[in-house]
Amino acid sequence: MTKTTDTRTRDKLREQAEQLAASQPKERLQTYSDKETQSIIHDLQVHQIELEMQNEELRNAQVTISESRDRYSMLYESAPVGYLSLNEKGIVTECNTKFCEMIGLGREKIIKYPIGRFILDSESPILKHLLNSKANVVEHELGFVCEGGKSFHGLFQLHRTKEPHQQSNTAWLAAVSDITKIYDLAMELQIKSKAIDTTLESVMIVDNNTKICFVNKAFEKTTGYTRNQVLGKNPRILRSGKHTSSFYQDMWEAIAETGIWCGEIWNRKATGEAYPEWLNISTIYDDRQKPAYYVGVFSDITKEQELRLRLHELAYHDSVTNLPNRHLFMDRLEQEILHAQRNHTYFSLLFMDLDRFKSINDTLGHSTGDQLLKEVANRLSGLLRENDTIARMGGDEFIILLPTVDTASHADNVAKKILQCMSDPFDLAGRQYHIRMSIGISRYPDDGIDSETLIKNADIAMYKAKEKGRDTYHSYNKELNENIFKKVDLERDLREGLNNNALTLVYQPQIDLDSGKVSGVEALMRWNHPVKGLVMPSDFIWLAEETGLIVTMGYWALREALNQYQTWLREGIDVGILSVNLSPHQFLQSNLVDNMIKILHETGMPSDKLGVEITESAAMPNIQHTIETLEAFQKMGITVFIDDFGSGFSSLSLIRRLPIDVLKIDRQFINEIPGNPDDVAIAQAIIAMAQTLNLEIVAEGVETLDQLRFLQQHGCNAAQGYLFSKPVEPSGLNTLNLSL
Ligand code: C2E
Ligand code: MG
Ligand code: MG
Repeated sequence: MTKTTDTRTRDKLREQAEQLAASQPKERLQTYSDKETQSIIHDLQVHQIELEMQNEELRNAQVTISESRDRYSMLYESAPVGYLSLNEKGIVTECNTKFCEMIGLGREKIIKYPIGRFILDSESPILKHLLNSKANVVEHELGFVCEGGKSFHGLFQLHRTKEPHQQSNTAWLAAVSDITKIYDLAMELQIKSKAIDTTLESVMIVDNNTKICFVNKAFEKTTGYTRNQVLGKNPRILRSGKHTSSFYQDMWEAIAETGIWCGEIWNRKATGEAYPEWLNISTIYDDRQKPAYYVGVFSDITKEQELRLRLHELAYHDSVTNLPNRHLFMDRLEQEILHAQRNHTYFSLLFMDLDRFKSINDTLGHSTGDQLLKEVANRLSGLLRENDTIARMGGDEFIILLPTVDTASHADNVAKKILQCMSDPFDLAGRQYHIRMSIGISRYPDDGIDSETLIKNADIAMYKAKEKGRDTYHSYNKELNENIFKKVDLERDLREGLNNNALTLVYQPQIDLDSGKVSGVEALMRWNHPVKGLVMPSDFIWLAEETGLIVTMGYWALREALNQYQTWLREGIDVGILSVNLSPHQFLQSNLVDNMIKILHETGMPSDKLGVEITESAAMPNIQHTIETLEAFQKMGITVFIDDFGSGFSSLSLIRRLPIDVLKIDRQFINEIPGNPDDVAIAQAIIAMAQTLNLEIVAEGVETLDQLRFLQQHGCNAAQGYLFSKPVEPSGLNTLNLSL
């Protein structure tokens, strides 16, 4: 304490003391000694010091308060969050700079305005709800509108407070944080997680402790494990046991090296069933580039594998018969050639073609055709050894490779067995059909040393078998090759001939054996070849049949014969029944009856003067069609002949079912009668049967009087043959001198 202060204090104290004394009652008046005064002064000094200290504290507190206010104000102003004060009606009474920045307006354009002004219209109901809330703290995400039309996504938090100076009214302190980025991020995450969950590919995430930490829905579906069953487990639980440990070792090494692995892997489902999957593993690294997670994306490829197998099947197998196809056959053939070259062995090829398959397909439909092919494939497969290869080359062609055959006769034996197994009828669409096969054989190395030549030569030999009369086999020889070239020329010439009117008809009379008169004539085709001259049906009908040309040729013959009939009529010549041959191919055409009606109409031919000749092989493939067609013919008055009877395979019971009028006994049974007892017996039986069935009977190829007599004796109705007349030009008929 300073001296001056001391003096002043002393004076003041004295003054106080004097005032005190004056105010005291007299009897209690007391005077202080110096010592006492000194003590009082000391006390007062202590008190003074205490007061000053209190003042100092007060000042310090004021400074602290002021500093705190500054700090608060600074915090308030520069906070990264928008702060607002709202009154109970939601009017902004104060806001910080951050909020102004967020909204893009000055304080003066914010304060005194309702907070709703800065919030998307669509969200005003939420705002209203918040402001009416009874809670002390409420928050919600709201869309805020900024100056210039922009907006941001904000977290709006309200803390209830009191209006300053009006303790009873509610007011709000509000904080607004721009969470647009978090919101967008959350949205993105949500979309990604939705995408992962809805993707068809299974996803499994494994952490760096090799524990499964995430699986999606597709995973659950594919594996059959639920999320809870696998989370925290080692992915080893999925192993199928189909891979060695080195497989997994290699996989993890690749992942460690490159961060990724993809490939096919077999895993096991919850049910225990093993399945193949295509797995893609990629590594997620942490900040220090250490692997943190492994993401496995996989899909069950069982179906793809099945498809792959199926495609392989399709690529190498015929879909109808399931036999190897040409592709696979060629592979095996090439291998066999190599083997035969190395070991100096022989082998054989059998090339097979179904006779008249096309007719079956055309008339019974493709599914029945397919059924037939399957059945043929089954029969053929049943005959072969394990090492033999049978393939379908396409259409109705099959081929067999008989590897390492020592003797040529082995192939012949197989061919015989094949023909034998084909002789049983086929059940197709509820009926029985006789289907035959022609087989051509070629042999390595005699008939070719490369696959192409061997197949081509077996094919050529097969055509020869067909020419020989089908239902037979033939081995290749060099002359055949020359013939096949002729065949190509022949086909071309025949097409040209058809266009150039090179076809003609000759007519052969049939003689009634009772009256000795001409009861009918048969139209027979001839071909005037520009170089070869007159070509007989046996040299071209088979080819026409094979190429389908026979249909056009058959209709041409029908028109031609019917027109000729009109000419004879005009000339006053009565030829009786005019019969025309219908090939199997033509007979199986579904529009045959319609065409017949049309041609009859066009030519003016009386239908009761027309006869049609069909062979058993035309009648057999589709009995229903045969019956319907023949019935239609008979209804029109047309006479139905079964030609070459006895040469086919038709059963007597079948013949009985057919609506026919005349049986023509095949020439082969007439040829050697009466000398050959077998033929005699057959001819007699046919005649007797025809009589029982009430059918007329015509004998073909009657050349001798002995034959004629025999036929007459046995009750044959009519005969046709060189004995009476060879087939002649139309004009030749009126000059015929026919007498028995
Ligand atoms: P096909 O219908 O059985 O005709 C009878 C065949 O026997 C005819 O042969 C005829 O010339 C022959 N022939 C008749 N009498 C005798 C005889 O006493 N001795 C001998 N050796 N032969 C005799 P062609 O004219 O060569 O006809 C052969 C076959 O060609 C016919 O047999 C028939 O299946 C077919 N053909 C002929 N013309 C036509 C036709 O216009 N259309 C169809 N689809 N086939 C026809
Ligand atoms: Mg005939
Ligand atoms: Mg005949």
